[in-house]
Amino acid sequence: MILMERVNKWYQDFHVLKDIDLTVMAGERIVICGPSGSGKSTLIRCINRLEAHQRGRIVVDGIELTEDVKAIDAIRREVGMVFQHFNLFPHLTVLENCTLAPIWVKKMPKKEAEALALQYLQRVRIADQAHKYPGQLSGGQQQRVAIARALCMKPKIMLFDEPTSALDPEMVKEVLDTMIELAAEGMTMLCVTHEMGFARTVADRVIFMDRGEIVEQAPPEEFFLHPKEERTRRFLGQIL
Ligand code: ATP
Ligand code: MG
Repeated sequence: MILMERVNKWYQDFHVLKDIDLTVMAGERIVICGPSGSGKSTLIRCINRLEAHQRGRIVVDGIELTEDVKAIDAIRREVGMVFQHFNLFPHLTVLENCTLAPIWVKKMPKKEAEALALQYLQRVRIADQAHKYPGQLSGGQQQRVAIARALCMKPKIMLFDEPTSALDPEMVKEVLDTMIELAAEGMTMLCVTHEMGFARTVADRVIFMDRGEIVEQAPPEEFFLHPKEERTRRFLGQIL
């Protein structure tokens, strides 16, 4: 479903991703962790071409990512993304945030898009806020809207980049619960997060990155109980 083969990326002369090899199967849930600046965001942003890689191959759902705009568009329809700072459109209501892409990208009739959006807003338990603006919601509510908005495009893959790290502690759970439900429904997910409880509950595989490399990857039990690499042990020692 996602294939990364010897992927390398540089920001000017800074080598940010070094020979990344990663295969993610349909329905797999991956958690990516690692120190600040290790390249976690860059890695997942390469999957929907928010960043371009310079060497190696990335194939998503059978489509190879190149400069070809059609391929990029096709992949972006398959891949939803949720960011740390929600990135909702502040001048649009919750409902309009959710219907924008289905209407403009998928050419869905407005009524149909609204019905779909309400269905997903219901699923993240926030349909009663549909006519508010993002600024009128709590951080946890905004993040759940961001998840619903991504789901409205019916993606096959969801990317999460530290979706709870900007939230007050009491709102973290409501967002993680939404993500756990999504995982239970079989969504293919790549989540950059340091929520190790979430990783233990949900992940099929935990990946540890450091300095642009995948240092270690293993199922959560093994990853937490028997990390092989010294760098992983040091990192876990700091965050657990
Ligand atoms: P964090 O945990 O802080 O979010 P991260 O693991 O997500 O870190 P990235 O955001 O992928 O790390 O960044 C990896 C490295 O690349 C960092 O050293 C960062 O400063 C650098 N970097 C990121 N974006 C750019 C950019 N647009 N131009 C130049 N350097 C960048
Ligand atoms: Mg990051």
